[in-house]
Order: sequence, then C-alpha cells, then structure tokens
Amino acid sequence: METSHHTTQQTEKEKDPNLEKISGIEMKSIGVLMTCPMHKYLEQQLETHFNLFRLWHCNSSITEFLKTHQGNTIRAVVGNTEIGADAELIASLPSLEIVASYSVGLDKIDLRKCEEKGIRVANTPDVLTDDVADLAIGLILGVLRGICASDAYVRIGKWKDADFGLATKFSGKSVGIVGLGRIGTAIAKRAEAFGCSISYFSRSQKPFASYKFYSNIIDLATSCQILIVACALTEETRHIINREVIDALGPKGILINIGRGAHVDETELVSALLEGRLGGAGLDVYENEPEVPEELLGLGNVVLQPHVGSDTVETSDAMADLVISNLKAHFSKKSLLTPVI
Ligand code: NAP
Repeated sequence: METSHHTTQQTEKEKDPNLEKISGIEMKSIGVLMTCPMHKYLEQQLETHFNLFRLWHCNSSITEFLKTHQGNTIRAVVGNTEIGADAELIASLPSLEIVASYSVGLDKIDLRKCEEKGIRVANTPDVLTDDVADLAIGLILGVLRGICASDAYVRIGKWKDADFGLATKFSGKSVGIVGLGRIGTAIAKRAEAFGCSISYFSRSQKPFASYKFYSNIIDLATSCQILIVACALTEETRHIINREVIDALGPKGILINIGRGAHVDETELVSALLEGRLGGAGLDVYENEPEVPEELLGLGNVVLQPHVGSDTVETSDAMADLVISNLKAHFSKKSLLTPVI
C-alpha cells in the first residue's frame, strides 16, 4: 500500500509541478500568523498544515513579537472579527502575501493597504449565511414573544403567582432590511415564510428581488415594524442607525442588529429604549465588544447575544475549512475559492 501511494504521488508531481508546493514539507515551512484565539479546529488545521505563529502568545507589543519571531517569515495572516489585519500589522510583515479572514465581514482588514501592496484577501461568505439569518429570526421572536423574559419567569417560580402576560405577534409584520446581500436575502426568505411583507434599503435596487426598494433608510424605517441591519460595515454605514432612523422606526418598532456594532449609534439606541421611543431591540453585536451598555441589561424588551451569529459547530468547521482551502490554493498558485482582492 505504502509503495503504491508513494508511486502515485510521484506520478502526480510529474504531471503537475504545482503539486510539489502543496506537499507536506513545502506547506509546513510557510509562516502563518493567527491574530487571536478562534475556533480550535481552525487552529489545529493551521498547525497541521503550516508553520503556525500565535500573536496572542506574545505579552508585549506586536512589534516585539514580530522581532522575536522574524516578521519576514510570515506570509499569511488569519484574522477574525476581533483582530484582523490593520495598517500597522501589514507594515510589520514584509513577506505578507495573503490575509485569509475567518469571517465574511472585512471591517477589521485595511483593504486599501492590501490593495496597494498586492496582498490577496479572502473571507468566508455563504457558509455562514443560514446561521446568521436563523439568529436574526430568533432575535425577532425573542424580542416580540419575550422568550428570554418568559423563560426567566418560569425558572424563578413567578408563574405560580400569575400568568406571564401578553406578548406581540411576529407573523404578518412588515420587515425592513438594511443591506440585501447574502444574509439580508436569507433573512427576507425566512421572514416571507412568516407572512411578513419585506422591503429593503441598499446602495442599489436588486433586480433579483421583488421586495419594495427604498433609496432612503429613513423612509424604510418609517414604513416597517421590524428593522434588521444586515449590511457590511464601511465608513458609509458606520452609525447608519442614528437618532433619526430610530425615531422613524418609533415606539412600537423593533431594531435587530446582526451586522456590526458600529452600524448603530449605541448611545442613541440606549436613550431611545430608556425613553420608550423604540419598542425593543435584538442585538448580536455591539460597538465595544465584549462591553455591553449597562443600561441594556435590565430591559425586558431587549434580547442580547454575545456575537454568535455564525457560531455553530457545523458552520465554524465549514469556515475553518474554507480558510485552509484559500491558503492552500494561494500557496499552490491556484485561484482563491472566495477572493475579495
Ligand atoms: P454581502 O453579501 O456582501 O452583503 C452586504 C450588503 O451590504 C450588500 O447587500 C450591500 O448592498 C450592503 N451595503 C454595503 N454598503 C452599503 C451602504 N453604504 N448602504 C447600504 N447597504 C450597503 O455580505 P453578507 O454575507 O450578507 O454579510 C453582511 C454582513 O453581516 C457582514 O459584512 C458582516 O459584518 C455581518 N455578519 C455578522 C455576523 C455575526 O456573527 N453577527 C456573521 C456574519 C456576517 P449594496 O451593494 O446593494 O449596497
């Protein structure tokens, strides 16, 4: 068996000179920097296939770490929604060829710098879409039906004293989506199944969608009962949910954010909830994670999640496999599976 496997490998190498680059030894010598702890399986896979460096193992500055570990041996960075690849990190890695992000969002990567320096960028789209869309629906139900509050009501024995009270119906509500991309579209499909009318705001109208398009987010917020943020975080969309949008959504409106914390002006969100100018909120993401505004913790009309949109075993494994496949493709001079740049 061993002999025949060896012979097959040799024949394949002769056929494809690139295969030599993906043989164990070649890949193992490639320095890959992981920026912070992520999915354990991803870390194991990176360790198996590459020469893995862990940025968080360094107690001093990035510069010190890179001096000790010879920044010039690192050819790839694997970052995530917490620590990506900013201008400082990119500048410290003279041999950097690719940033393979364990996320679909690119807001923690200095894309302009990457473009300038000819550094490739890949992310993990599609494989996480269903999970994030599922969580958005979960947050809507959580807020409107008071699932967390009523669960606590049962656990602390209050049901014995009195009924929980009435919640609010989800089916048939009007849903507005900010950013009709992969996740936004998946949310729309799910909400349709609940008999909801769907409308959206994006930079352009989508020919594939029959949903009502608004070219102005205030008009969208005015017209819907549930507003869901599902767009990319860019300079344009930072604080896209401001006081005006919140007031347009109104005291019966619900805000769901599964995008990024910085999409929402959190100070405005908190005061609107405290003053009753907004009906409720379901949040997976926050401006200063893992910090969550203290005032939100006591509110029964708010459901809070610790940025877990894509955090299922199935999806995390699929995202990790995609990161590894992108790195292997790059270093064997093949096309990236999910290229950004
Ligand atoms: P996508 O397919 O690229 O969709 C992004 C959408 O953002 C596009 O439809 C784009 O629409 C819209 N957009 C960009 N700039 C905009 C602007 N200035 N105004 C309005 N809309 C704008 O990405 P995706 O896979 O759906 O992911 C979307 C985002 O979800 C990611 O960027 C990430 O931040 C977030 N996310 C969160 C979690 C979580 O755990 N909570 C997990 C995964 C992803 P137009 O081009 O038409 O404007």
